[in-house]
Amino acid sequence: MSDYVHPYRDTEFVLGELVELERFCAEAGLHDVNGELVSAILAEAGRLGSEVLAPLNAVGDTQGARLGERGVEETPGFAAAYGQFVESGWPSLTAAEAWGGQNLPNVVGTAVNEIWHSANMAFALCPMLTQGAIEALAHHGSAALQAAYLPKLVSGEWTGTMNLTEPDAGSDLAAIKARAVPNGDHYLISGQKIFITWGDHQMTDNVVHLVLARLPDAPAGVKGISLFVVPKFLLDAQGRPGAHNDAQCVSLEHKLGIHGSPTCVMSFGEKEGAVGYLVGEPHKGLACMFTMMNHARQSVGLQGLAISERAYQQARQYARERLQGTRKDGSRFPIIEFPDVRRMLLQMKASIEAMRALALVAAAEVDRTAHAPDADVAARHQGRVDLLTPIVKGWLTELAQEVTSLGVQIHGGMGFIEETGAARHYRDARILTIYEGTTGIQALDLVGRKTLLNKGELLGGLLDEIGETVARLESAGPFAAQARALGEALAAGREARRLLLEGAEADAALAGSVSVNFLMLSGYLCGGWLMARSALRAQALLEAGGGDRAFLESKLVTARFYAEQLLPRTQALLAAIRAGSASIMALSDEQF
Ligand SMILES: Cc1cc2nc3c(=O)[nH]c(=O)nc-3n(C[C@H](O)[C@H](O)[C@H](O)COP(=O)(O)OP(=O)(O)OC[C@H]3O[C@@H](n4cnc5c(N)ncnc54)[C@H](O)[C@@H]3O)c2cc1C
Repeated sequence: MSDYVHPYRDTEFVLGELVELERFCAEAGLHDVNGELVSAILAEAGRLGSEVLAPLNAVGDTQGARLGERGVEETPGFAAAYGQFVESGWPSLTAAEAWGGQNLPNVVGTAVNEIWHSANMAFALCPMLTQGAIEALAHHGSAALQAAYLPKLVSGEWTGTMNLTEPDAGSDLAAIKARAVPNGDHYLISGQKIFITWGDHQMTDNVVHLVLARLPDAPAGVKGISLFVVPKFLLDAQGRPGAHNDAQCVSLEHKLGIHGSPTCVMSFGEKEGAVGYLVGEPHKGLACMFTMMNHARQSVGLQGLAISERAYQQARQYARERLQGTRKDGSRFPIIEFPDVRRMLLQMKASIEAMRALALVAAAEVDRTAHAPDADVAARHQGRVDLLTPIVKGWLTELAQEVTSLGVQIHGGMGFIEETGAARHYRDARILTIYEGTTGIQALDLVGRKTLLNKGELLGGLLDEIGETVARLESAGPFAAQARALGEALAAGREARRLLLEGAEADAALAGSVSVNFLMLSGYLCGGWLMARSALRAQALLEAGGGDRAFLESKLVTARFYAEQLLPRTQALLAAIRAGSASIMALSDEQF
């Protein structure tokens, strides 16, 4: 049996009860999409994930990608698995029909993507980046570029990459140096990009790079960056891959984890210059890239959930099997019976359920924006997407560090030994708070563009909605303690917002000093809000006599545990926010 099974009951609960997917689809005119179809899709994806991708996870870890004579050679078995993945139509799930897509809602694609990342995150990074490239081209590419590249990317016949990072330009993209010189109907690109995920492989007959570079007349800083499509193989007159472009992987990074995902140093224009085509307007590349980055940021948050789920399933199995206690009658019992092991498992489970709820609710906001009846409603939902994206990226990936670490702890010494795989999840998870913008960068986005810039309006709207859930908990008999816990966390959220709005102008270091604590507080609060809503729905279903009783009863327990053990963390985070910047800024650089 596979060591990964898709937790379909929880996914279907969140989609049905929190997202209210069927109602949304009916209102949006997506009449072909219903709960039954989504269950069938999830079951099919679950099968491919468990049977094909999950067994290759350990192989990818021990036999990572290599640089060979033909370029990067991926882990043995990945190409066949990718072939099956494409054959079954998975890359096209959410893309527009115009490009050969199946036009399913983003939230359904997100639920399915959780399966790929749980099963094999290193593998799933390849289609994840391709999806980002599709988004950028669909929103900003010319008709000719869209016609040439989108059908092949949507079908999965070609894959996409995102080339931002350079040796001197990581978080600070203003420092990008790669150059693009006009040359007839195209540009010649030159420069080096580092850390490029799936920058090369042999699984498909082309790789489509999206590359940030500067035009000769570009103003300094982020306002001078343009976006280009640079294919690995140039297209011939029939649109088929032909001559090799002047773009190649020159080395592979040796990493802590995700060894199955090649992390490439890419060199563009070592000879005559790599042929590239402008996407969108000159100097507006960062705005185009943001389309891709928002998608990618929610996707990386989802990876945090997915790898936590995988670590949990493995730890639960180990805890059921590992005999390490002796009863009075001399019989031995498994460690799952020890209260402290139960605490760790429940912390993993409650965290994961809150993460899944937030990831899917945020993903559904993307659909609500796309299918809004008018511009005002669309703007409201887009505002929620903007606010939640850094929280999904930052909070879910930070929580994944703790959850995968608990997975190691539950295994005891065997957790530190590679062959159990627990350490692999912990190693793989470590990249998540770093790529696609570190937690520090997400937190600056949350306090800056998403809060201070709109005077806290977006956050205020969310806090009011959480207030409504507190009121509903208060009026529902069994939830008095949870109402109190969520009410106190909400008050912490309101106070943090007030401190930020009132203090940021007078103290230039305040926003940056409190930002990560602000993000984490927001994350725990959002998780508490959605766990409370889950508990209310589970209770209502139990009272109506419907649903899977064991599942619904366990949902009540995880929601209660979350309120008792995780929500109170908001108070410590508020205390840190209240302390402000004084001690953080007190030492000179030399005193550290
Ligand atoms: C395995 C892997 C895969 C990757 N895949 C890709 C890819 O496909 N495409 C791509 O373009 N890039 C990719 N990256 C690059 C990745 O996005 C960057 O590593 C990341 O953005 C951080 O940049 P940096 O490494 O230069 O760190 P730095 O920017 O040097 O940051 C170092 C530290 O300083 C902090 N810091 C920096 N600036 C600020 C600030 N303004 N405020 C507060 N704190 C700050 C950071 O939070 C961090 O803690 C990948 C990286 C890895 C390791």
